[in-house]
Amino acid sequence: MSRMKIALAGIGKIARDAHVPALMASDAFELVAAVTRHEPPEGARGFRSISEMKAALPDVAAVSICTPPRGRLQLIAEAFDAGLDVMIEKPPAATLSEARQFADMAARAGCVLFVTWHSRAAAAVEPAKEWLRGKEIKRVEVSWKEDIRIWHPGQSWIWEPGLGAFDAGINAFSVLTHILPGALTVEDAELRFPANKDAPIAADIRLAHAHAAPVLAAFDFDQRGPQTWTIDIETDGGRLALSDGASAMSVDGEPVRLDGGPEYHLLYRQFQALLEDRRSDADLRPFELVADCFLLGRRKLVAPFEDF
Ligand code: NAP
Repeated sequence: MSRMKIALAGIGKIARDAHVPALMASDAFELVAAVTRHEPPEGARGFRSISEMKAALPDVAAVSICTPPRGRLQLIAEAFDAGLDVMIEKPPAATLSEARQFADMAARAGCVLFVTWHSRAAAAVEPAKEWLRGKEIKRVEVSWKEDIRIWHPGQSWIWEPGLGAFDAGINAFSVLTHILPGALTVEDAELRFPANKDAPIAADIRLAHAHAAPVLAAFDFDQRGPQTWTIDIETDGGRLALSDGASAMSVDGEPVRLDGGPEYHLLYRQFQALLEDRRSDADLRPFELVADCFLLGRRKLVAPFEDF
């Protein structure tokens, strides 16, 4: 069977680190083009816009968007106009009002939209959801702390008005909204803004959960040394601990053996399944929680951030 021709838009850190290798390993997709202002990945042709690409390569059927969140509406509209199916990186957009248009745009165009949450593809996520089924949740603690210098080196967009530390924290929200039964709502948040930046570098959040358990989350973008991406859940049936961004799991301190490969390999297999069914997947709950943190959150000014 011939592979579906796909393009990447935005060849930055995540495109090179994760999307290109996943597509190279895929037997469903063939990376033939890139919409980029710079060099395309090896073996792909470079174009300045989606319409230019579609005119030159009419058999490209899908585009995977890896640009920063600002500007997605235009790119996605252009993709649907060209009749392309679309997969997008998290966070889905710069604003909720923008992101809320995407699913209708896809339906009107008769195209498939996949709003991805790569952390949901981590190996422990489905086993954790299964383990939690039927248990009473007593307490949830999230610690999502990483060094922005490692994960967003030299990127100016990350400090523009916008998500800041929630760019990483939204991954924790994507896991929580998937594995916890029932709804989550933001009760309280403190957002800490460096005096010289327009986005928060850290946040502490308290969420209410449908089952009344307190859910506490701490996000930090200035974590030196070991990086921390953990979710601890106390239940009436034991204690679940997710670590390494939900790629590892233990129950009452005992590690659980997990299957599963790289997150982005699974994301592209999920996209392939959506394309086969001609079905979209556009869950915005993690992004809504982030927006609510900005609506309710107290803002605190902290020391200027230095990029070294
Ligand atoms: P990045 O390294 O800055 O790359 C983004 C690319 O998008 C740029 O290289 C550029 O590609 C293109 N672009 C188009 N308009 C742009 C603009 N106004 N400013 C900057 N770049 C622009 O960013 P990234 O880390 O890959 O992140 C991209 C998306 O992936 C974000 O939504 C981020 O949250 C998500 N993500 C990042 C990571 C990570 O570890 N960094 C992990 C998972 C998800 P061209 O040079 O080809 O034009």
